[in-house]
Amino acid sequence: MDARLTPVGIAQDGPDQLRIDWNDGHRSTYPVRALRLACRCANCVEEATGRRLIREEDIAPDVRPVRIAPVGRYGIRISWTDGHDTGIHTFEYLRSLDTLWRGVDRQDP
Ligand SMILES: [Zn+2]
Repeated sequence: MDARLTPVGIAQDGPDQLRIDWNDGHRSTYPVRALRLACRCANCVEEATGRRLIREEDIAPDVRPVRIAPVGRYGIRISWTDGHDTGIHTFEYLRSLDTLWRGVDRQDP
């Protein structure tokens, strides 16, 4: 049996949120602009050093996904309103972002 985490549903949840329901029953909600900023493709992150090549101020406040396509069985490719479509968000990465961003929320008093 394949125990890997995979989405059972991916949907836009309002104009600026993406919702993923996982096969373990967990639900993740992502701010779409944060997902755009978290892109790890070669245009956004320097491969050798891991240095981020995009700056927050370079990304439009209202950037949105226009198309979300599956990539194999391990991720999704998001096409954005700013024309960017080379990034692949793997399921593993998406789930780790969910954990990471929730952790940030919890630090609020
Ligand atoms: Zn990218």
